[in-house]
Amino acid sequence: MRRATLTNDFSWSKSRHEKFSECLRAYYLYYYGSWGGWEAGASKDVRELYVLKKLSNRYSWAGSVVHDCVKDVLLDWQAGRQVDPADVEARARKLMQDDFRHSAKKSYWTQKYRKTFTGLVEHEYAEPVPDEAWKQNWETVRQALGWFFSSRWPALARSLKREQWLEVDAGFDFSSFTLDGVKVFAIPDFAYLDEAGMPVVVDWKTGKARDGYDEQVLGYALYVSQRYKFPVEKVRTSLVYLNEGLEQNVHVDLAAMEAFKARFTQSVANMRGMLTDAATNTPKESAAFPMTEDVSMCVRCAFRRPCGRLEAAAQVYAQQQAQKAAEPKVA
Ligand code: SF4
Repeated sequence: MRRATLTNDFSWSKSRHEKFSECLRAYYLYYYGSWGGWEAGASKDVRELYVLKKLSNRYSWAGSVVHDCVKDVLLDWQAGRQVDPADVEARARKLMQDDFRHSAKKSYWTQKYRKTFTGLVEHEYAEPVPDEAWKQNWETVRQALGWFFSSRWPALARSLKREQWLEVDAGFDFSSFTLDGVKVFAIPDFAYLDEAGMPVVVDWKTGKARDGYDEQVLGYALYVSQRYKFPVEKVRTSLVYLNEGLEQNVHVDLAAMEAFKARFTQSVANMRGMLTDAATNTPKESAAFPMTEDVSMCVRCAFRRPCGRLEAAAQVYAQQQAQKAAEPKVA
């Protein structure tokens, strides 16, 4: 059977918008410069960008482990299987230990590993991360899972009838819709129908509450309304902060949707403004995508070596660590 040729088609997502807003060079390297790096015949530079773009940092790693665990648990409940929280915690711990070893050896340069994790920028760039920080990272995962199991969500999920489940982190191949002719990726962590038959979209968060998340769930609401044919204002959305034990409902109304669509249209126009040919999604030369002047952005960026920002980022990192160490400790 012939394999379909992959083409770098233009699409939009909240994370793409964020990258575009934060550093144009990172955006270019992530969406264009690294394209094709998986091919056996890829050039060394492209291959390097591709491997680097797949790396996580320790915070996003912790978040993705929690997401993967909660996803598996929800799928178990959907299938009517029993779940033991202690087993889930033990599996998460083992997974992170295996991930850490794989990453510390930099095996991501030579071996395939697992879909949602390849390695860590901290190892790639030999960052001096104290043991305490690695332990804290595990604590973040443990606490998030602990709160999840003690929250209202397990009882709610187990009470859902088969027809009330819509989707659980269904992935890029499934969760997308078209807005003004543009493919938009919006992958809700959990979507179901409440007792009244109306859709609810849930997004799990491991970090602290921050701006921009509302925007993300508005995109999910639009996706769910299109895919499952509900008026968008009937979709309820919930941001659940697993480490803070907080839930925040984001109000979806027509005015919020109009504002979302206006920002989306502007974001797409800005991105397309950086193309020489919109039909083939061909970008301008890399020089048209300047590196950010804010070196603090480079501290967690996977592309700091190809950008020549290794030393500058290391200096800022050292300053940040010194500042942290000087902060008074809260008892
Ligand atoms: S290292 Fe800095 S300049 Fe380079 S892509 Fe990353 S954030 Fe942008």
